[in-house]
Amino acid sequence: MFGAKKALDNGGVYWNLSGGYHHAMPQNMEGFCIYNDIGICYQQLLEQGHINQGDRILIIDTDAHHGNGNAHTFMDNPSIVLLDIYNASIYPVNEFTRERVDIPMKLKSGTDGETYLECLKIALSEIVGEFKLAFVVAGTDVLAVDKLGGLKLTADDVAERERLTLSKLAELNIPAVITGGGGYSSESASAVAKAILSVAGS
Ligand SMILES: [Zn+2]
Repeated sequence: MFGAKKALDNGGVYWNLSGGYHHAMPQNMEGFCIYNDIGICYQQLLEQGHINQGDRILIIDTDAHHGNGNAHTFMDNPSIVLLDIYNASIYPVNEFTRERVDIPMKLKSGTDGETYLECLKIALSEIVGEFKLAFVVAGTDVLAVDKLGGLKLTADDVAERERLTLSKLAELNIPAVITGGGGYSSESASAVAKAILSVAGS
C-alpha cells in the first residue's frame, strides 16, 4: 500500500520484497497465500481516494503459476487488465480464472529462459492504452532450481525479465509496484538482489 501510494504520487517504481499473494481469493486463502494483498491494496486506494472507480490498473504476473486469486478477485472488474505468463502444466488449473486473463501466455513445463523471455516480449507488446498504476508479481519460482515452478530460467534470465517488464512500463509511463510472488529455492533471494541491482544500474 505504501509503495502504491508513493508510485501514484511520485511516478516510478517501488519494490516490495514480499507480497504478490496471487492465489488468495477474497473469501479464502490458497496456495501459500494468506490474503490477496493486491486486491486489498486496490480497495484501500479506492476508499482513500488515491484512485477512482474505472481507473485502469495493470497486473503483470510473471510468477511461474497462474494468478488465479487475482483473476478471481477482479473477475467482474474490466478496469483491471491482467497479463499472466505462467506454466500451464501445473497448479492452478482452474479454467474459469485462466479465461479471465486479458493477455495470457501459457508455457509448458521445461520452458527455458530464452523461450520465456521471447514469450514475455510478445505478451508485453500487447499492452495498450493508459494505466494509472501497475502491479507486478515477480515470482522467482521460474528458476530452474525451483522445485515447484517447472521452468528453467537462470538468475540472469530473471534480471532480464525485470528489465523487459520495467522498460515497457517506463515506455508507457506507468508507475509500478513490484511484489515478490513465489520462490521456493535457496537461490530466490540472490536472484531478486541481482535483478534489483541490474535494473538500478540500467
Ligand atoms: Zn508461483
